[in-house]
Amino acid sequence: MSVYRDLGLRPLINAWGTVTAVGGSLLAPEVLDAMREAAGAFVDLHALQARAGERIAAALDVEAACVTAGAAAGLTVATAAAMTRDHPELRARLPRASGLPDECLMLRGHRNRYDTAVAVAGARVVEVEDATGASVEELRRALSDRTALLLWMAEARSLPGSPPLAEVAAVLHEHGIPLVVDAAAEVPPRALVRQMLDEGADLVVLSGGKEVRGPQSSGMILGRRELVAACAAVAYPHHGVARGMKTDKETIVGLVAAVELFARRDEAAEQAARERMVSKLVAGLAGCADLRVRRHVLERPGIQPASIPRAYVRPLHATAAAVAERLRSGDPAVAVGVDGDEIALNPQCLTPEQVPVVVQAVIRACALVS
Ligand SMILES: *Cc1c(COP(=O)(O)O)cnc(C)c1O
Repeated sequence: MSVYRDLGLRPLINAWGTVTAVGGSLLAPEVLDAMREAAGAFVDLHALQARAGERIAAALDVEAACVTAGAAAGLTVATAAAMTRDHPELRARLPRASGLPDECLMLRGHRNRYDTAVAVAGARVVEVEDATGASVEELRRALSDRTALLLWMAEARSLPGSPPLAEVAAVLHEHGIPLVVDAAAEVPPRALVRQMLDEGADLVVLSGGKEVRGPQSSGMILGRRELVAACAAVAYPHHGVARGMKTDKETIVGLVAAVELFARRDEAAEQAARERMVSKLVAGLAGCADLRVRRHVLERPGIQPASIPRAYVRPLHATAAAVAERLRSGDPAVAVGVDGDEIALNPQCLTPEQVPVVVQAVIRACALVS
């Protein structure tokens, strides 16, 4: 691995997950081959976008799909599409939204660091309180002719006090307002996408560069044909708000290849392999006097995806943040998550061969007294 070393950087062992800041995910050889081939010829980008959308929709068993430069770009594109649906001639005006429906409703507990993507399109987030049993009533009160869409965070679906997606979608649909789900990193399971569409989501936005293992700067909008068509009319290579969110031909072709692999991957076998790695992490660390370790499945939003178990390690002589820092600057360098006073070891991007290496690195990092 010399490209990073040539730049004076060390490759990381990734026990953190499909986190953008450490590279998202790794590409399968088939995906790289497709990208290399795509780089060898010119092609009509509009036609490539359209065909890629068809192939992705077929692979994932959804009505329609649109390729974007990541899930965050997908949120911007979906917002712009929701704002200008019946006024295609107004797309070029965005992000100046005067005269257009410019409000994106979000349940308060669903607010997150990615929802800035909505503002990029020219909309603003209007919070709906969801802490009471009257939340659907609150939602009805928040609706107006300025409402363009509601953005729903897939990872917040189990939040106490959050009404079910189906109930929220039903209220919105009485008024013809689309529900857009941010599910960027919330697969596996793959079936979640279909499930949320069946429950009433109009669009589901997914990262290409996380669990799907496509190019890191890719994403997709999946869902209802008419809305996806509006998204495609906003998305690259069109001029307008999404013009800066470029998806090159290699990325588009690579994403199609990755999605087609993703649709066929054996999720049960992958989950079993991840369980085995967590068991080995827990067993390898269990005897260490400098830490406590346990298997943990996430119960609250904030770290995704919730479906993958982790090994949680509580260092006894230093803060979790200090141990994570040591691991990151160690040799080998290991990236881990921090959740409160524990470090979270996620098997999602680990290989079985890396597990003993991570165990030894964690033991060393925890043995140092701060
Ligand atoms: C990662 C993530 C995004 C952004 O996805 P990109 O594909 O990196 O643009 C948006 N929302 C959530 C919840 C995410 O985890």
